Amino acid sequence: MRQHRDDVNRSDQDCPSEHSGRRYYLPAGLPAPAADGPAAEFWAAARRHELVVQRCPRCRTWQWGPEHICHHCHSFDLTYERVSPRGTVYSWERSWYSVHPALQQAVPYLTVLVELPQAGGVRMVGNLLGDPLQMVGIGAEVEAVFEDHHDADPPFTLVQWRMLDQPL
Ligand SMILES: [Zn+2]
Repeated sequence: MRQHRDDVNRSDQDCPSEHSGRRYYLPAGLPAPAADGPAAEFWAAARRHELVVQRCPRCRTWQWGPEHICHHCHSFDLTYERVSPRGTVYSWERSWYSVHPALQQAVPYLTVLVELPQAGGVRMVGNLLGDPLQMVGIGAEVEAVFEDHHDADPPFTLVQWRMLDQPL
């Protein structure tokens, strides 16, 4: 559905990308996530299709992104807790210009900053799946989609997002 798009200078024929027909939201050739360091457990959980967020067992503070130290009490004893893979759109952006050679044919695409109310309101960045010209509302409910890249070496899984009230 494109009648709600906010850019009137672009016709359907101009749109170079049909994200719905792609295996992945963004094309191959982008850097793979570095699944080590304090983020290792996040990426391992994503492979299991679980969403986890770093939390300090001492002061119970949630934090994101992953760090070696608790920002609140300075403990080094950080762990992860599994959370519901649902959140709300805190902010979003429709990118029309590629910032990487692999993205030259992928614009426009949508990036969202998703707030997780059940994890202290931490915010995660991801892509919003579906029509790249769709209307995105601040506060809209979204659900995580685990995008498996089984053919990568090593394999990894990205955490993407979809609007709860829209089919992919
Ligand atoms: Zn702490």
